[in-house]
Amino acid sequence: MRDNVPMRESPFLAPHLRGLGTTIFSEMNQLALEHDAVNLGQGAPGFDGPEFVKEAAVAALRAGHNQYRRSGGEPVLVEAIAEHQRRFYGLDYDPMDEVTIYAGATEAIFASLQALCGPGDEVVLFEPFYDSYLASVAMAGATPRAVTLRSPEFAFDPAELDAVINERTRLVLLNTPHNPSGKVFTRDELEAVAEICRRRDLIAVSDEVYEHLVYDGTHLPLACLPGMRKRTVTISSTGKTFSLTGWKIGLTCAPPALTSALRTAHQFISFCQPGPLQLAMATALAAPDDYYEGLAEQYRALRDRLLSGLEQAGFAVMAPASGYFVLADFRPLGSDDDVAFCHRMVEEARVAAIPPTSFYIHKEHGRQLVRFAFCKPASVIDAAVERLIRWTAR
Ligand code: PMP
Ligand code: GLN
Repeated sequence: MRDNVPMRESPFLAPHLRGLGTTIFSEMNQLALEHDAVNLGQGAPGFDGPEFVKEAAVAALRAGHNQYRRSGGEPVLVEAIAEHQRRFYGLDYDPMDEVTIYAGATEAIFASLQALCGPGDEVVLFEPFYDSYLASVAMAGATPRAVTLRSPEFAFDPAELDAVINERTRLVLLNTPHNPSGKVFTRDELEAVAEICRRRDLIAVSDEVYEHLVYDGTHLPLACLPGMRKRTVTISSTGKTFSLTGWKIGLTCAPPALTSALRTAHQFISFCQPGPLQLAMATALAAPDDYYEGLAEQYRALRDRLLSGLEQAGFAVMAPASGYFVLADFRPLGSDDDVAFCHRMVEEARVAAIPPTSFYIHKEHGRQLVRFAFCKPASVIDAAVERLIRWTAR
């Protein structure tokens, strides 16, 4: 299937969207198609979601539920999410007033920024970041300020965070577990963010879509830190947890005053999501612990498979603690420009990956890295590794 073809910027594009270009995921998908490459670019699972969730969707679809739905989300789904937050984190949210459903975490991020900031406001992000953050900040008319998570540890300096904050700062946008590094923010790191939010009276938007894909360490929601529940919008995506990314069922948990602001934006962005898919996700979230543990185990094995293959091919890698991406340093292979490297790799090795400078404002920090996705069947990872080993051995 042809993806959004990268094209020159349209003369019709409004000024505040200029420079956003074509998302790197579509660009690399298109190149993968053109070169018949094994595609380890976009974080799209290479397998289907669980049968019991699909069956629940089919049953819900046959039973009706096909007209416009409640804008905040199906009651059974928001209740299931409130129960999930209690079960895994001991957090109490009122389903009807504090939980909202969106067209994926992408809409949740967009709606949060539309609702909470505007021209003149500054938004603090940690780079590298999921690429929609910058676009969402731009569409809200706000200004991004980036704090760099520096490879290979992807740690940050709280003094640097403090230094970018000023009287125009409106919110801090965090992502833990983190795409693309796989970093799971520690309690101390989260406390450093929380301390600044409390002291400077900032809202936190915490994107936690990889909450159940953790291999080392423990995911701690930012809202669990003292004084943070009342100022935090927590975002997640059932697409990641149930390997059904195309269903685009995302969510926020936030106190009523923040939720009310988010819903003002959400009602005019998508209004509501498909009823049958929401009902199926309510069934999904109630899965026993075995499901959640099995998911992480499955991804851990795929991660290790890809890591050892990339090492054999000559990349310098560090095991990501979470998520479904490996960031590899390709300098041992004699190159130092991620975009050029990824283009050469897709053309010559016929393996597609993502050049991560798209995830940075200060691009010099990502130029030596390439992001590979391991949310793929073992056979696909093996095929990519085989091609890479042959290519780098030339
Ligand atoms: N946040 C992060 C960090 C992501 O990596 C992604 C997608 N991979 C999203 C949000 C978007 O999630 P969704 O597909 O539910 O829109
Ligand atoms: N978040 C996914 C990734 O990082 C991509 C989602 C998208 O293509 N919009 O690969």
